[in-house]
Parts: sequence; C-alpha cells; structure tokens
Amino acid sequence: MSWFHTNFVLPVAEPQRYVGLSRRLGEIRKFERMPEQQQRTAQQQRLRTLLEHAYNTVPYYRKQFDDAGFHPSQARIDQPIPLPVMTRDVLRDKSDLLLSTAFKPEELKIAASSGTTSTPVTFRRDVEGLRNKVALNFQLNTWAGYEPGDSVMMLWGAHRDLTMEPSWRWRLYEEVLMHRTSAPSGLINDEILERFRLRYEKQRPKVLYGYSTVLAVFASYLRQCGMRHKPSIVIATAEVLNEQNRKLIESVFDIPVFVHYGSRDTGMISAECSEHEGLHFHPWGSYVEFDRIGDTPDGPSYRILVTDLLNYGQPFIRYDTGDCVTLAIQRCSCGRWFPLASQILGRVADGILLANGGIVPGVTIGCQMTSLQQNFQAILQVQVVQKSHQHLHLRYVVRDQSTAEFQELESICNGIDSLIHQKMRWTLEKVSALPRERSGKIRLCLSEIKTPRSTFAAPFQAEQTLVQL
Ligand SMILES: [Zn+2]
Repeated sequence: MSWFHTNFVLPVAEPQRYVGLSRRLGEIRKFERMPEQQQRTAQQQRLRTLLEHAYNTVPYYRKQFDDAGFHPSQARIDQPIPLPVMTRDVLRDKSDLLLSTAFKPEELKIAASSGTTSTPVTFRRDVEGLRNKVALNFQLNTWAGYEPGDSVMMLWGAHRDLTMEPSWRWRLYEEVLMHRTSAPSGLINDEILERFRLRYEKQRPKVLYGYSTVLAVFASYLRQCGMRHKPSIVIATAEVLNEQNRKLIESVFDIPVFVHYGSRDTGMISAECSEHEGLHFHPWGSYVEFDRIGDTPDGPSYRILVTDLLNYGQPFIRYDTGDCVTLAIQRCSCGRWFPLASQILGRVADGILLANGGIVPGVTIGCQMTSLQQNFQAILQVQVVQKSHQHLHLRYVVRDQSTAEFQELESICNGIDSLIHQKMRWTLEKVSALPRERSGKIRLCLSEIKTPRSTFAAPFQAEQTLVQL
C-alpha cells in the first residue's frame, strides 16, 4: 500500500506536492543511513549551497553578507551564521528584496506564516522546496510508524478542512484516495465530539493526527462514552502538548504519543523518535540555532532561529519562528546527534469558552488569522483576553507609522467572531509590547473565566498546566 501510494496515487492526485516523492524519500533515507560525520558534512554543504544561492540571487542577503564581511563558503554548522536575525517585521518590510531572482515571480507559490506568535505575513516558496518539505514531513511520520496510504483521522482546523459537510468530490479524494478523514476542530462541543466519535468508530483509523488539545479532549470524550477501536499511532502537533494532556491521551489509547513540531513558514522540521526523549530537528531540512532568551525551572529557554535548507524561492536565514524550546542535556538513546529539544514552549493558548458550553481551541484562532490571507502591515502582534462569555479584549502592538490599523483590527475581530459563530463585545487596547511569560513566549489567548460551563474545558486551559514552566 505504501509503495503504491508513494509512487502512483499521490503524484497523480496532487502533482504540485507529490511529484518525485519516492525519490525524495529515498534521498532523505540515504542521508539518515550515513555515519554521523558524513551527515554533518552533508548538512554543512547543504547550508553553504543555500547561503551561496541567497548571496548570488537575493538582493537583501547580498547586502547582509557584504555588510557582515562574511562569505557563504565560510559557513559552519558548529557556529552561528553572523547575520542579523530574520524577523517577521523584515518579511513585512522587505518583501520585494527577499525573493530569489533565479525564479520568475509566477513560479513561486504564495503562503502565509502562522498567526499564533504574531500577525501572519505572506511569503513565497519554490515548488521543489514545497515537495521536499512534504517528503520530509512523510519521513518524520514514518518515525512514528505512519506510512503513506495508512488510514488516518485528522483532528484539526486547517482552513480548507473547516466545513463540516465537505463536497462529495472532496470526500472521495480525501477518504478513498488518501485514506484521510478530517474532523474540523474550529469549534468543540458535545455535538461535534459525538460526530468525531461516530466517524472514528466507522473509519477505525490506524493513525490519529491532530492538535494536541483537541486530541486530549477527544480522548477524554472517548473514555467517557466508551471506545471500541484503538488507533496504533497518535501524533500531536501544532501546539504544545503539556504533561497533563500527554498522560490523558496515553492512558486512553494505551500507546505513547509522538509529538511533531513545525510551522507554516518552515514546514515540519522536528519530531520525536521512538525513544520519546525530545524532538529532533532534522538536519536534512534545516539548520537551527538556539538563542538563549529566558529561564525555566527545567533550564534555559532558547528561541529557535531556523535556516531553511529547502526553500530556494525565498530563502529564510536565521528566521525567528517566535517559538522557544528547552534543550536536552544528553544525547537521545536512539543515538541520533540531531539537535534535541526537550520541550517546545511556544504555541500555548487558552481556548475561548462559550456560554453554551462550547469551546474554540486557542490554536485555531491562530489558524483563523492565517486564513484571513492578509499581509498585516499595521498590527504586529495581538493577544486575545477573554473577560466573559460575551466579551473579548484585544491587546495589540502596532508599528510606528501605520494607516491600516483600523481596517486590520476589524478584520481580526470579524475573523474571530466568524470562527466562534457569534458576535462578541470587543474592547481594544494598544500596548507598546505584549507581556512575555518567564520562558520568553507570548500567549495568544488568555481566558479569565474561572468556572467554564463545560465538562471538557480542562485540556484547553493552558494556565492550569504550565507548572513545568
Ligand atoms: Zn531519538
């Protein structure tokens, strides 16, 4: 099934993503079989090739390298690249200077960064880069035992999956060809959980794949209602899986959860191996620097600066994803030298609690902002504070000179209202900076409601579960 899917079904179904998938997977697996020193040499060469491409074809980076007096051929993977950090603000400001002249603009695919740590920004990537990212994602899935063609139920709210009743063509493609069932997680309540459960028992998926909090609440619901089928693999992604939710999921399904980490900007770049001692950043896809930013009881926290080794259309060098990690002290028992994060500290967001007992997971607020398909120019960061079941308070940071502020605020508030399916009372507060937690991260959603009218609110409320921070 896996071979047939990789070589025939996927490349024909979605050529833009899957052409050459088999060859790409072969390349990554060959890399993984190399001895450590050869892998390090290969990663350094991949880094230099990407940097040289950026130097030769991206005006912004040509200047950055020249200003730093540094040539790409000098780059080493045991030293930081001596260039300034690439932030989302730079992406906003310099968008015309960041594209590689090796590609025609129409050859590059447009995408938007995630909206969980700051307002989304659009960027571009080349098609080969996209296909390589898809292949790496598949390879990280196979670390968990999830092979192409395996039946999977996805509990998430990527915007194209958001409709509860998708067209028959979509269902034919997703369910028959891809063996995927999507359970959209924009809003969670008893009725929706029951629909998830019925789909789950009917499809009997090998793999459950989804947002960490939604997986936790679904596990809790299954335990409450009784469960006939058990999946073989559970993969949690898109937001932090705290210890409480991990224990809940593992106790219900009786298997360890695999955590994957990535972002819309970089693709999936790290994953747990079968030892579950942390998340490995895969050196075939990126070169990651760790920049100390704060402290936690478990040791220093670092922001992660990603140099993407796959996107040649708009190279990302030392890109600040907005997420932080703590690092493992010891090498993983699997023997891999790949950098190992013991915890990802970004992407923690409370859910928004509704008066009727429903909950909108915090992570879907970030996704909703991305799906607005807007390049935010005035609003740089937001934080949604839930004051009551009807009242949301928006803290926001603007850049100095901005004319689009009002229109962008309206778009954010309307976007969240449409996700919640009700008109909330909004109050607005312009601030110079959003408060960071001790670990260095900024929380997108905070709920001040202490007594939720829901039996399944606990997995969505980050505050109770941040004891390790
Ligand atoms: Zn490992």
